[in-house]
Parts: sequence; C-alpha cells; structure tokens
Amino acid sequence: MAFFDRFRKKEKDAPKAAPAKKEAKKESKPMASSKGAECVMKTPESVAAAQLKMADLGALLPGAPPNGKINLAIYWAAACGGCDVSLLDVNERILTIGDMANIVMWPIAADGKEHDIAEMADGSITVSIISGAVRNTENEHMVKLLRKKSVIVVSYGACACHGGSPALANLIPGGKDELLEYVYTKTPTSADFQAEYNSSGAVIPQSEYEAPEGLLTLPMLYDTVKTLDQVIDVDYYVPGCPPMQESISHLLKAVADFAYNGVALPPKGATVGVVSKTLCDQCPRRKEYRRITKIVEPHQIDVDPDLCLMDQGILCLGPATVGGCNARCTRIGQPCRGCYGPTPAVQEQGASALTAIASLFPVLDDDATIEEDAIADIMSTIKDPLGYFYAFTMGKSLLKRHVVEKGGK
Ligand code: SF4
Ligand code: SF4
Ligand code: SF4
Repeated sequence: MAFFDRFRKKEKDAPKAAPAKKEAKKESKPMASSKGAECVMKTPESVAAAQLKMADLGALLPGAPPNGKINLAIYWAAACGGCDVSLLDVNERILTIGDMANIVMWPIAADGKEHDIAEMADGSITVSIISGAVRNTENEHMVKLLRKKSVIVVSYGACACHGGSPALANLIPGGKDELLEYVYTKTPTSADFQAEYNSSGAVIPQSEYEAPEGLLTLPMLYDTVKTLDQVIDVDYYVPGCPPMQESISHLLKAVADFAYNGVALPPKGATVGVVSKTLCDQCPRRKEYRRITKIVEPHQIDVDPDLCLMDQGILCLGPATVGGCNARCTRIGQPCRGCYGPTPAVQEQGASALTAIASLFPVLDDDATIEEDAIADIMSTIKDPLGYFYAFTMGKSLLKRHVVEKGGK
C-alpha cells in the first residue's frame, strides 16, 4: 500500500464530523440528559457569533506607509520556531509586510545581529514581536535591548505570554543543574555519547571555557523560566501555540491601521485575537454535562463527533481557556490543552480546569453514586496532572516552580 494511501484509509475509517445540516437538525430542539436535566444546546448561530473572524487587512496595501516604512523586529527567545513560522500564515500578505516595514531583525529568516540593534537609537523600532519564554542570560539581554529600542513590544505565542512548555522545566526540583545533568548524561543518546567519547567523566556544557584561542562563553540557563512580561514591560499579547491565522491578522491590522492611517492602537495590555468568552462558546460540540466515572484518552474510545469531549470522559481544558482559536483541536476530536491561556477572570487555568472536571463527577447529594476514594482512583489515572493542566501556563501560575524547603524534598 502506498504511504499516503494508508492515511487516506485511516481518514475513511475515522469517525466523521457531523455535516452542518445534521448538526442544525440535532440542535433545533432542546434535549434532556439521562438524568432529566435540560442540556445546554448551542445553535449554529450562537457558535458562529463566538467565532473570531479574519481581520480585514485592506489597510495593509502594497506601498510604503505615508511616513515611510516602519522598523519591525521579530525575535525568538526560548522558543521552538513554530511562532516564527506561524507568521507566514498570513499567506500572500507576507509579501506586503516588506512594503510596510524594514525587518531589522528576524533570526530565523533574515540577517541582523545584536550589535546592529544596539547601535540603533532608542525607540527607533516601531514594533518588536517576541516569541518564546525567557530562560537564559541571552534571552534576557536581547528582550531588554529590544524593549529599549522599541515603541511597541508584542508578547507573541504561549511561551512568551504564559511560559509555555519551556516553563514546565520549573517543576524540576534541582533547577538548571539537574536539567543539564539529565539532558547531557541520562537521555539514551547522550549517555551513549558520553560513554563512548568521554570515558574519563561526563562533560556538561559550562558557561565559560578557556580555549587556546581565548575565552569562549555560552549563555547561562536560569533555574526559573519566566514569561516575557516578568522580565520587560509588554504592550500587547497574542496567545496561542502558535497563534492562529485569525489572531495574526488582527495583530497585523492594528499595526497597519497605525502605520498607514494613524489609527490609535488598542489599549496597552490588550490581548489581541481572542473573544470575550471561553473556548466552549466557540466549540460546536453538544454539551450535556453528563456525569463521568472514567477518564479516557481519545484513542481509547470511538469519539462521538458531535458530543462534548468532557461528556465522553476526555479531559478538555475548553471551560478554562479563552476563546480565540475557533476550537481548532476539539473540532477534530482532540481535547483542548489550553494554549490560548485562561480567560481574563481566571488566574490559575489548571485549577479552573480541575474545578470544571470535578463538577462532572457524580458526587452531588441527590445523585451521589461514587465515593471520594473512587474519585481519587479516577483522578490517579491522569498521567502527569501538572503537565496536563499547566501545559502552557506554568510560568504564569501561582505555583510557578518546584521549591525545595531546607532539609526537605
Ligand atoms: S508558543 Fe508554541 S509554537 Fe510558539 S514558540 Fe512556544 S512552543 Fe513554539
Ligand atoms: S469542554 Fe471541550 S469539547 Fe466540551 S464544549 Fe468545551 S471545548 Fe468543546
Ligand atoms: S483548542 Fe485549545 S489547545 Fe487547541 S489551539 Fe485552541 S486553545 Fe490551543
């Protein structure tokens, strides 16, 4: 069987999303749950109203803005590069960005060095779009430098806004030393390498090395990974891992309106590309608030294409996540992992998600069917609960990091 045919077959066998017509019919009258309580139904209109549309980028016309091109810097701190690539999601509009702006720095795509930026006058960069968390001395130096040189700093993507996956390293009790030791001596590939090439003792990168040619230096890791706004003042936030096309279009529109038409920017501190409701309000799945007695992964069941994933026992962070991505994951049968971060009303996304899940266990007085111990058993089936509930927001959570108390663990 040809390589791609295997996937075609899988697609054919996979549960299909309900056609729009069928969904409309299903949602046309209220349904009752097995316990007789009225379900919350979402009409296609209400879901459509909660969708974030692409911004009209009409203002971003070919040709330079009336006052000349603006300066734009795009920088990645502790990032995977996905945020940089996501900027290309504006499709052919990327070509007109060159008309609007001089790209003075974009390490993944263009030349432009630290000293070029250092030589620029303060405030001469109109916008710096920074992705990634701050996890080492170089990240900190660069974001502070860009802040000094920029009028507007945008915190772009989950890692910059909430710490993202890099901030999960804050849960390592021994901090950077334990992290380096593990990565360079314990992972199978590094252990093999060390055994083969460094038989006199494992070599772990140091921040300084006196080579015959002179002193070589590397950036130093920090014990605690920080969000961008824990290090510098941030003007706007664009969450997501990476941000969706709609979010990027809203950011570009704000910048283009400002550059071409002098339109005032959004209020400082605004989060661009989100709606005022939770992800559940953007999700077309039918929510019945069924009581769950078992937690499952999507691959363990035949996922109902229309029913809320939580109702099927799949942990979904939609109730604790701000809407903006148009429910990309849940539409294809994958639970939301919360990459857009919490709603403004919530500080602890993980705790908020736990509350939503707890409300689905049958423990209310009038319908109690399972004991506390049974709930503890069910919850214990969640592998890596901190990693699940704080996959993107550990940097911003009140927990922040693992601490070792004196004399304790
Ligand atoms: S937010 Fe996601 S895509 Fe962006 S840098 Fe972090 S991990 Fe990569
Ligand atoms: S919990 Fe998840 S699957 Fe259910 S409605 Fe909310 S976002 Fe959709
Ligand atoms: S559904 Fe959740 S995890 Fe998926 S893109 Fe949206 S916010 Fe991120």
